[in-house]
Amino acid sequence: MVAIGKPRGTRDFTPDEMERRRAIEKKMRDVFERYGYREIVTPTIENMSLFTMKSGEGIVEETYAFNDKSGRMLALRPELTAPAMRFYLEKLQMEPKPLKIYYFGNCFRYDRPQKGRYREFWQMGCELIGSDKPEAIAELISTAYFVLKEAGLKNVQLRTGDLDILRSSIEKLGVEKADEIMRLIDKSDYEGVESLIEEKSGADEFMEFLKCRDFKSLGKFFDDVKIKRLGDVLEWLSVFGTPYILDTSIARGLDYYKGIVFEIDAPSLGAEKQLCGGGEYSLIPLLGGKDVPTSGFAIGFDRIVLALEKEGFSFPPSKEIVCILPIGGEMRKEAISLATKLREKGIMVEVDLMRRSMQKSLQYADRIRAKFAIIVGPDEWKKGTVIIKNMQSGEQKEVRKKELHNFL
Ligand code: AMP
Repeated sequence: MVAIGKPRGTRDFTPDEMERRRAIEKKMRDVFERYGYREIVTPTIENMSLFTMKSGEGIVEETYAFNDKSGRMLALRPELTAPAMRFYLEKLQMEPKPLKIYYFGNCFRYDRPQKGRYREFWQMGCELIGSDKPEAIAELISTAYFVLKEAGLKNVQLRTGDLDILRSSIEKLGVEKADEIMRLIDKSDYEGVESLIEEKSGADEFMEFLKCRDFKSLGKFFDDVKIKRLGDVLEWLSVFGTPYILDTSIARGLDYYKGIVFEIDAPSLGAEKQLCGGGEYSLIPLLGGKDVPTSGFAIGFDRIVLALEKEGFSFPPSKEIVCILPIGGEMRKEAISLATKLREKGIMVEVDLMRRSMQKSLQYADRIRAKFAIIVGPDEWKKGTVIIKNMQSGEQKEVRKKELHNFL
């Protein structure tokens, strides 16, 4: 035990873990960029009011907030949509539309930590500003779906719904506690919903609506005009080649969501299986700006890594390193100058910094999984050569220094 550990709900990442995370991150960035999204970065801290003015109850309680030395109320960002919209209003309004931006950053929530739920976690997400055409929303949803597939996940499930339809069906019930019902639906607490509405006429129909998973059957509950937009988006999803399930019961936690919403799960993860959530929202008017169509999604990056591990994904092997080992003290400078030359050529090189014996150095090269050891001895050096040892086969070979780069 160390005297001072890390805060609850936070993690350290080892070099091996970081290599895996960076490899996945890179693939995901590539997909976003292929869909035309460009990266933004916003501060880790924001004014607390950015998050209090717009979201439902949950997020405020979970936000890490503090007063700075001048008494400003600041927050560690719990999510990145509001910061992205703030940035848009301050700087990006004149950009050509649609404006497509993505982010990758750490977020903080004071939540009960468990597997897949942390107090510091990473979100990767996109915001699409300027179009609410059904094909635009369908492209956004497809981006989220294909980024998860290309990250390497085999088993993901995309569910798409429509909040306007859900809210209308709650209105039809004539209950006062519409927000409460939305909250219960968001938690998939259907028994809770049932007990709240059991007195109401239309309660059975509402429960049937919540379980409706096929677009044609929606016609039983609403006229064609009401469900047209959802139908259009679903049709465009098929054009984009994106498999989806209709889910009338997606409520999304935050108040500013509206219209089309979607979630993507990795069923293998159990309780914390939601990888991605998103949809259309209206946040800009709440921040005092001129309304413009906005939609977006956030992916929980840590859960991608967990889901890949669960699925037995074979992560790319570590990059191969070469170890340069001088024979005896007098070759140390030559070994270092050789290391510099190879590094300039882009080769990953370790050179002995511990003044170890040859035997110990070779053990070290083995432990760090070096592909080759380059042994620099005085006799070979004079001839312009070095010995290369293949660490896997044990085979040794004398190679001219000039040809070393090609050989490696
Ligand atoms: P949200 O902003 O709540 O819609 O979250 C978007 C995604 O971020 C979720 O689908 C999760 O994958 C991920 N996420 C949210 N909260 C956490 C957390 N505390 N720890 C890890 N991932 C999280």
